[in-house]
Amino acid sequence: MIRVEVAIAAPLDQSLAYDLADDTPGPWSADQSPVGRRVLVPLGGRSLTGYVLAVLPDEEVAYTVRRVLKVLDRIPLFHENLLPFFRWASTYYHYPLGQVIKTALPAGLAPKSVREILLVDGKNEAMLASFTEQPPEWAVRLAAAGRLSAAESSLVLGRGAARKNIDLLRREGILELQETVSKDAVREKMETCFSLSPDLQDLSATLPDAGEGEGWIEAWCRQAGLSLKLSEKKTLAVLVRLALQSQGIDIPAKELYRLYAGGRKAIPALLAQGLVGQLERRIFRNPFGEPVGLQKRPERLTDEQEEVLSQIVPALAAGKYTTFLLHGITGCGKTEVYLRAAEETLARGRDVLVLVPEIALATQLEEHFLSRFGEAVVLLHSGLTTAERFDQWFLALTGRAKIVIGARSALFAPLKDPGLIVVDEEHDAGFKQDDSFRYHGRDLAVLRGRCHEAVVLLGSATPSVTSSYHARTGKYTLLQMTRRVGERALPSVTIVDLSRKKSGEAKGLFRQELRQALAENLEKGQQSVLLLNRRGFSSVMLCQDCGAPVECLHCRVSLTLHKARKRLICHYCGYTVDHRVICSNCHSTGLLVPVGFGTERVEEEARLLLPEARIARLDSDTAADRRTFLQILKAMRARQIDVLIGTQMIAKGHHFPHVTLVGVVWADGGLNMPDFRAAEKTFQLITQVTGRAGRGEELGRVIIQTMRPDHYAIRFAQQHQYEELYQHELQIRRSPAFPPFVRLVALHIQGEREADVRGTAENIADCCRREARQRKAAIETLGPAPAPLERLKRNYRWQVLLKAANLDDLHLICRYVQENRQGLAVGASRIAIDVDPENMM
Ligand code: ADP
Ligand code: ZN
Ligand code: ZN
Repeated sequence: MIRVEVAIAAPLDQSLAYDLADDTPGPWSADQSPVGRRVLVPLGGRSLTGYVLAVLPDEEVAYTVRRVLKVLDRIPLFHENLLPFFRWASTYYHYPLGQVIKTALPAGLAPKSVREILLVDGKNEAMLASFTEQPPEWAVRLAAAGRLSAAESSLVLGRGAARKNIDLLRREGILELQETVSKDAVREKMETCFSLSPDLQDLSATLPDAGEGEGWIEAWCRQAGLSLKLSEKKTLAVLVRLALQSQGIDIPAKELYRLYAGGRKAIPALLAQGLVGQLERRIFRNPFGEPVGLQKRPERLTDEQEEVLSQIVPALAAGKYTTFLLHGITGCGKTEVYLRAAEETLARGRDVLVLVPEIALATQLEEHFLSRFGEAVVLLHSGLTTAERFDQWFLALTGRAKIVIGARSALFAPLKDPGLIVVDEEHDAGFKQDDSFRYHGRDLAVLRGRCHEAVVLLGSATPSVTSSYHARTGKYTLLQMTRRVGERALPSVTIVDLSRKKSGEAKGLFRQELRQALAENLEKGQQSVLLLNRRGFSSVMLCQDCGAPVECLHCRVSLTLHKARKRLICHYCGYTVDHRVICSNCHSTGLLVPVGFGTERVEEEARLLLPEARIARLDSDTAADRRTFLQILKAMRARQIDVLIGTQMIAKGHHFPHVTLVGVVWADGGLNMPDFRAAEKTFQLITQVTGRAGRGEELGRVIIQTMRPDHYAIRFAQQHQYEELYQHELQIRRSPAFPPFVRLVALHIQGEREADVRGTAENIADCCRREARQRKAAIETLGPAPAPLERLKRNYRWQVLLKAANLDDLHLICRYVQENRQGLAVGASRIAIDVDPENMM
């Protein structure tokens, strides 16, 4: 019996102690360490999943320690060296440790506790007799089988009338409810394989060519004194041949039966005689649906690549934690730097973790890494099915994969010894998770690097202001690359002022400059990209009679017209209605007037303007599944598309050498957002999309349409002036103070009743102010105020923003709020703590 520390996958502030007996059921033996395995433990009246964190010293305690009910895993799911990292992440983000670990493990692993209805032995008659009328069907089945399955039990328990009966029968001691564990949603996929007895293996090694017939098996049987049936001899012959081909690897049963169907019947006899052995082997599903395009390793590095590597390689050799910020303009060859650093890391026997903001980028990096490292690479991202992701994750856990590439959550990949962690496009907001466990993938990557003494490489053409600040104040080391590969020039950027309209100009989304450039580019047989960071056809639909916008039923948000689908769709909750909706304000059935525009309308206008062009659109509507997404990208690369239209999805990462024109349809949409990062984000988006032009032989050009041509974000993006933007932002953020000069925590309050939510928000703001005063902490409390998106998915949303120069002060207050959240919440309101918030909406 040992005592273990268990973090339960539930909102508990602390881990708990349990006793683990040597004979606890489960695929585990008492001589193995339980750390890193999942266990089933009792808590209150339920059984819950938990994770074993440590073996505790065997001390007297003042309370009764309960026993672990079951060990769930054959092998530990995480290495012990990840625990300090998990603990730190839990403390930093004020999120329960068990739920942090649950987030870190692939979906489909956490078994739920379910209930089964059991009949007490010998109570069949008593139960049936308890019904005054005909017993219901479930009772008849229960009497016959003695128990009901979990699925049926849950159905029966859900029915009011049946529930009453059951409660009564339980009190009379006729029935019991038993907690059990539902099966994991995803399991390792196994296949049956056969192996040959040692004698037969020897035989297969000396086997003559297949051409010489099968007489040898006869001879072998005679020599071994065996008399076998014909089908058995045939089966052996096939197996021996297959063993020869597979060079000793066990033979899948499927393979045998495919070649010789009679094997099915013969196998039991061969097994019984010990000529053949049988085993179950794990199989891996290959997520790379398509063959990957091979990318060559360049023979020579550019001077700048040499230069930055000359700083990275010694850090890798030293095996000490270091974070580099690699600021390199678009097309300067950052990927090659990642690849060389990865080669160095593997050569030292350590692992590599590569994080990208979203699936769009993974495809590009995937190809480079797969070309160079092949089987050592696994992918972890949302484009995979749950089962595929589980497989990939398992390969990393068992050390068979040395390189993991993935989106945000790949950060938790179970690599044993990461020596290099790359975060590509480190500025991207996609690294921040916006619900439940609100972590920032880049920031946790830096932390994980510290825990493993790894080199962290943050790369971007437009680093976040915060990372740049760290790189200039000594926290990170700055590396810069300022020239494109092959000395290609950055494209020239023209700004078109949308606020001034020339007389006689055609209506529509494209001004004369852009119309002309599009037509010319098509004429020359070159590709164009059009960016508008908003999907759908038009963003607001107004009632023709009363002017009211059509809003979502669940959110205080206008519905967007999706013309192709003839639906109005809420972009926040997915609620949709027919496009011929009746006005809820005046009940008019008249027409709706579309206002504003999205990518769908850009596509429509582009088709009108260039009827002969091949046009495609890439946004989350058209790229809902990865296959379609890959097809569009492939077609673009194969030059089967002339004009690609899309949202920010097309702006980053891609390398399309034949794109020579980029048009930004409306550049300043994002500037109107209530977010202190609005200008920074606009600059990043324009710079990224600008970087798509002129990556091949031909020079590129960019046309930016904007209502605010004098805004600094747009000016600096036009001139490719990152440094100026950075300095300007620093100046603005000094007063009123915003990051990097202060740290922020947002407290989000949500609930279905407006008064409760407001009350909770007021309680929290009061509490923060009072606590800060008492602790003499320099914390500024802003709010409470309704969130910019005041109502989403039926929930009212309020927020309180905390600002402080000292992060420790903020953590103290957060902990206080977390520990007292029950007292602070009015009604059913929920409180979420968001440390270093990205999304201010
Ligand atoms: P970034 O990610 O910095 O925008 P990429 O890594 O996509 O730029 O590189 C741009 C292009 O230059 C790619 O096609 C890449 O294969 C190529 N490239 C990178 N390094 C070299 C090199 N040393 N020699 C030749 N071509 C290179
Ligand atoms: Zn109306
Ligand atoms: Zn909605």
